[in-house]
Amino acid sequence: MEFELSKKQQELRDNLNQLGRFVIRPMSLQMDREHQVPATFLQQFVSMANSMRSDDDLAAAFGEGKKEPPSLDKPSFTNRTSLIGAEELAWADASVLLCLPGPGLGGPPIRATGTAEQKQKYFGMIHDADKRGELAWGAYGLTEPSAGSDVSGIQSTCRKDGKHWVINGRKCYITNGARALWVVIFASVDLNKGRAGHRAFVVEKGTTGFSVGKIEDKLGLRASETAELVLEDCRVPEENLLGGEDAYLTKSTGFQTAMKTFDATRPLVASMALGIGRAAYEHARDAVKDRYMIGRPIARYHALVERLAKMHRRLEAARMLTYRAAYMADVGQPNAKEASMSKAAAAQAAVKACVEAIEICGAEGTISKEDALLEKWFRDIKVYDIFEGTGQVQRVVISKRIFSDLKSF
Ligand SMILES: Cc1cc2nc3c(=O)[nH]c(=O)nc-3n(C[C@H](O)[C@H](O)[C@H](O)COP(=O)(O)OP(=O)(O)OC[C@H]3O[C@@H](n4cnc5c(N)ncnc54)[C@H](O)[C@@H]3O)c2cc1C
Repeated sequence: MEFELSKKQQELRDNLNQLGRFVIRPMSLQMDREHQVPATFLQQFVSMANSMRSDDDLAAAFGEGKKEPPSLDKPSFTNRTSLIGAEELAWADASVLLCLPGPGLGGPPIRATGTAEQKQKYFGMIHDADKRGELAWGAYGLTEPSAGSDVSGIQSTCRKDGKHWVINGRKCYITNGARALWVVIFASVDLNKGRAGHRAFVVEKGTTGFSVGKIEDKLGLRASETAELVLEDCRVPEENLLGGEDAYLTKSTGFQTAMKTFDATRPLVASMALGIGRAAYEHARDAVKDRYMIGRPIARYHALVERLAKMHRRLEAARMLTYRAAYMADVGQPNAKEASMSKAAAAQAAVKACVEAIEICGAEGTISKEDALLEKWFRDIKVYDIFEGTGQVQRVVISKRIFSDLKSF
């Protein structure tokens, strides 16, 4: 595996770092308190990002990338480059990253299962809005009040009625759910069939019977919108069934669609966690450097630097797992186990880094200040061990892969 970043990747990292340091971090606490990222900033960010992207990058971002799948001989760099960008932006403010316009978590299921027409239509809607200078999002609606980790337990239903599907159910904690132009919604055609009954639809904003419930007031990532979505006799045209009916002749296409999303997004979420963890680690390191070098008992200084060394080591190790999971995706290798390992390790390392950074800084670490964001990062990081599969669920996925030859496991 290549460890060196290309010149382009280094430039991306350095540019985002400067933007994060001088533009995003100074407004981080205010965005957190106001529960939003300013639209003007998002607009500026999108036009800057588009100006830096080649036509190929743009096509890939909107799901129109190369037809040929990546391989060891012809690797892609998309996944690895995305990780570098994600870590750097999350280092500045993770909510900003979640608020960035684009297909978001709705992109991977459309890329994995959508027909050519569906890709063109739904990525096109976002691309066209983008070209008009408007902000547009896609979203991913899987979780329900009684089905989070246990995806097979979703209770939303769908039934065919002429040339339409009628969907009923309730989705919760959906990132950008209220503002999205469309949401990929999972429902069951027969609750007795478990995963085999799952179907994935694209539901467009404004569809009759599709409404937004409450917007959550959260512990962290408070500038990112998390919404409840309600589907009451929501009628969508049959063309909105992702992949078309034939795609579901194979037993569990709907469920596999949900899972493939995670293979693509877990390393990305891991990188975001690493960005927050690294921010906390660096803050504590600088505090120790400033305060303890001179005039403090040397034993205490040693105890602190040993903790810092462990924080640094855990973050670096998790980053290697994350790069590996992304590398495997870039060369077209199945990476479900590695994606879960990276997410489990990065979230744990970053949660630990945030807790220890506060302990190292003492009471000062708990105070809200524009130039000292430890308490915010402490609030932001916890959800990284919960969404996209909790830490326990990642370990279940990993162990299932380790014992995949035992059918009864
Ligand atoms: C900020 C935020 C944004 C989100 N965005 C989205 C989104 O865009 N789209 C979407 O669909 N969802 C989204 N979610 C939902 C998220 O994916 C779920 O919260 C997550 O999957 C966990 O489900 P749950 O909250 O129902 O917890 P539960 O599944 O009820 O888990 C509760 C506890 O039980 C444990 N547990 C469950 N099953 C097992 C098992 N088999 N073995 C061991 N322990 C287990 C868990 O680890 C956890 O500790 C978001 C959540 C948050 C907080």
